[in-house]
Amino acid sequence: MTNDSLPLVQHYIGGSTAQSASARTAPVYDPALGKATKNVVLADQAEIDAAVASAAAAFPKWRDLSITKRQQIIFRFRELLNERKGELAEILTSEHGKVLSDALGEITRGLEVVELATGFPHIIKGEYSENVSTGVDVYSTKSPLGVVGIISPFNFPAMVPMWFFPIAIAAGNTVVLKPSEKDPSSANWLAELFTEAGLPDGVFNVLHGDKVAVDGLLEHPEVKSISFVGSTPIAQYIYEKAAKNGKRVQALGGAKNHMLVLPDADLNLTADAAINAGFGSAGERCMAISVVVAVEPVADKLIELITQRMSTLKIGDGRRNCDMGPLVTEQHRDKVASYIDIAAEDGATVVVDGRGIEVDGAADGFWLGPTLLDAVPTTSKAYIDEIFGPVLSIVRVQSYEEGVKLINDGAYGNGTAIFTNDGGAARRFQNEIEVGMIGINVPIPVPVAYYSFGGFKDSIFGSNKAYGIHGFDFFTREKAITSRWLDPSHGGINLGFPQN
Ligand code: NAD
Repeated sequence: MTNDSLPLVQHYIGGSTAQSASARTAPVYDPALGKATKNVVLADQAEIDAAVASAAAAFPKWRDLSITKRQQIIFRFRELLNERKGELAEILTSEHGKVLSDALGEITRGLEVVELATGFPHIIKGEYSENVSTGVDVYSTKSPLGVVGIISPFNFPAMVPMWFFPIAIAAGNTVVLKPSEKDPSSANWLAELFTEAGLPDGVFNVLHGDKVAVDGLLEHPEVKSISFVGSTPIAQYIYEKAAKNGKRVQALGGAKNHMLVLPDADLNLTADAAINAGFGSAGERCMAISVVVAVEPVADKLIELITQRMSTLKIGDGRRNCDMGPLVTEQHRDKVASYIDIAAEDGATVVVDGRGIEVDGAADGFWLGPTLLDAVPTTSKAYIDEIFGPVLSIVRVQSYEEGVKLINDGAYGNGTAIFTNDGGAARRFQNEIEVGMIGINVPIPVPVAYYSFGGFKDSIFGSNKAYGIHGFDFFTREKAITSRWLDPSHGGINLGFPQN
């Protein structure tokens, strides 16, 4: 049930806040307080049509605006975002729950993509070959697609949209962004800032909603592409439906990331890395480490070092200088906590149980403390499923080979890491592991903006990764032009291909 007296997060269409007439809304929680502080509108068909129509109307002028002018607007957006990122971080913390420093980190990673996008004139310029045949030239251009749809998850309400919209807009497209209904306000803030930077009305629209809005974008003939990030079942659904409807689609799904620790690793540094990668953002990161694969005999020592560090973590309201905040909703917190029981029933040892921890925050917040499970059977759902919370599992193996086989046998292939001082072993791992993003003594190997982000297997559907050159390729289509300026020597009939 929603509380009607709360502020309402509205769509942002055509360069301003659009008053929704939809009958449906959803509550938006402050996870550290454990109560709804806003409602968000959930689009109906008329609003989906309005957002797409706004983007479609803005497209021809935006596509044709000079490269210099487009570039100046993106530079200005970059400057404003950098100056005012503190405001956005506060919004992120109030709706997602992550601590302020982590919210700023998220924005910084998004800013990197904006910075990459400022260089778009170089990246999307075409090629030219003179005299491919006598007097004939061939050249290529990279044109925008038109209206592009972006659908993003709750866990990075600023960064994940920024993986896509700066590149899409720089390349001359217009955007309808459908953010997660759990933390919707960052998207409006970013769109308003872009308007302030000089972006013409209608180039960047935010449509709030649930499955109705998503399906509306998937069905709409004016929407030329879909960029999706979220859980694996929905990613698969999006991929299949968008492809069936003739749209270009990139769909990034869930993850279960392993960190392989070899016996020669520096165990203190490894324990630090496991803590940071396992419990940062309360484990609600698609690149979080959720399984430490310890090659014996290191497991006992590693558990001792990780446990020591866990006892020093301060859990609480992200606005209060804590290390780890709450989970995003009560429902998600309860689901994550249920995996602790599942693991214990299946024979794992609960070394540290995060349920019932003391926090620096409101009693009703959606809390779950850092949890450590040892000897988790690989047949347990606690090992197989993506838990997406502050639950770190230890799995013990006897050799490097056993560890690699375990990782490669998993359904996901998003991120992984090896901790070792043996360069040869690391090089072998990089070659043998079937995962898209690999860290060598780096626990969360999120590629910088000028590489591309994406995993293998159930972590991605289709071959289009996010940002980097993949991003520019996704948001443009190439035209190859063959040109000849006729003169009398070109006369005559010849039905064959030109030979010279
Ligand atoms: P989610 O799949 O529940 O939601 C993602 C988006 O899909 C949201 O905008 C939501 O409104 C929409 N959606 C939800 N249910 C839908 C349905 N039945 N039909 C159509 N649309 C629907 O994901 P989430 O819980 O918001 O985010 C967490 C998930 O995202 C995790 O699985 C995480 O691993 C994944 N993720 C992956 C990456 C990556 O790069 N691979 C990055 C971030 C998050």
